[in-house]
Amino acid sequence: MLKTKHLKIKGFETVVVGKDPSSNFHAIIAVHSTRLGPSMGGIRMWPYTNEKEALSDVLRLAEAMSKKAAISGLAIGGGKAVIIGNPATDKTRRLLLSMGTLIESLKGKYLAAKDSGILPKDLDVVSGQTSHVTGTTGKLGGSGDPSLSTAKGVLTGMQAACQFMYGTKGLRGRVVAIQGVGQVGWNVGNLLFKQGAKLVVADLQPERAARAQQAWNATVVPLSKIHRVPADIFAPCALGGILNSKTIPHLKANIVAGGANNQFLDEEHDPYRLMKRNIMHVPDYVLNAGGLIQLVVREILHQRRLAPWIGNIQQTVQEVLTTALRNHQPPLIVANRMALERINT
Ligand code: NAD
Repeated sequence: MLKTKHLKIKGFETVVVGKDPSSNFHAIIAVHSTRLGPSMGGIRMWPYTNEKEALSDVLRLAEAMSKKAAISGLAIGGGKAVIIGNPATDKTRRLLLSMGTLIESLKGKYLAAKDSGILPKDLDVVSGQTSHVTGTTGKLGGSGDPSLSTAKGVLTGMQAACQFMYGTKGLRGRVVAIQGVGQVGWNVGNLLFKQGAKLVVADLQPERAARAQQAWNATVVPLSKIHRVPADIFAPCALGGILNSKTIPHLKANIVAGGANNQFLDEEHDPYRLMKRNIMHVPDYVLNAGGLIQLVVREILHQRRLAPWIGNIQQTVQEVLTTALRNHQPPLIVANRMALERINT
């Protein structure tokens, strides 16, 4: 039996913890805001060491979803879900059905999608208990895995950043160091490879790094070295927190632009640390909005054409970087202000 506990957390509309020992289920859903529309965001499955760690992740991710939707011009709010568990060993049908029951308990306030550790076929199972799910497989009428759309947005944003930094948006010959070649990182790498970029990769799962080496002739480096690679672009595409007081002093890239959410460990100080080193950061939620755009445009607006929406990411990146340079502020601070203005008007 699913048991729920609602937490009161300042700045969030709803935070609910769900547990069902019979399916080994322990998860949290955070709804940050529904001011612009129902909250939407992926379900992440990760072996968090405790509930506190999972709560801190889900709150940051949900707030970022509100900003991502707002800055992308979507009439959607921000939410997120995390399941505590190892997706490789703990993901069972019963656990996914419990997730569906927890989502259903929020009566449409939260629309689920996929995040790290969850696949479209898992969402098909989740949808056995709730209709409030996007990104299921085509079999169930969903638009499927959004990772390629996310990657296309990342690519277009990288081009905008190169235009800004080097005066040309071409990626041929650019060295890009990718941290994490999972669903987003793999698609980003494929697109970059086709553009003639030189790739350096690291992944927690050695077989994924080996696949990248084979497919793109990528150089594989140890996990602890990927942020130290002399590169034009460092592309975080794993989980959050890679930009912090320990890593920033060692970065050798001119630009940081990747698909991972919440790249700064300390959002108050780390963006300034990076700016002091004259490294240009493209805010993650501006760059990685392509997946959310796919789900909203295809499954809520019922439109086919994604390209104009994803193309807008390039203009937004240009606007954020231009304003940041003019105001001597980190791009994340500028993007946050733009997003909050849209949420609050
Ligand atoms: P994924 O689980 O498919 O890929 C993540 C990869 O990173 C895995 O291969 C994993 O082994 C690797 N990894 C984890 N920790 C690592 C570390 N310390 N060093 C190197 N590699 C590490 O997940 P994904 O769907 O590709 O998502 C990646 C990131 O992009 C997440 O932050 C997610 O929130 C964000 N994101 C994803 C989408 C999407 O469409 N999938 C959309 C927006 C944002």
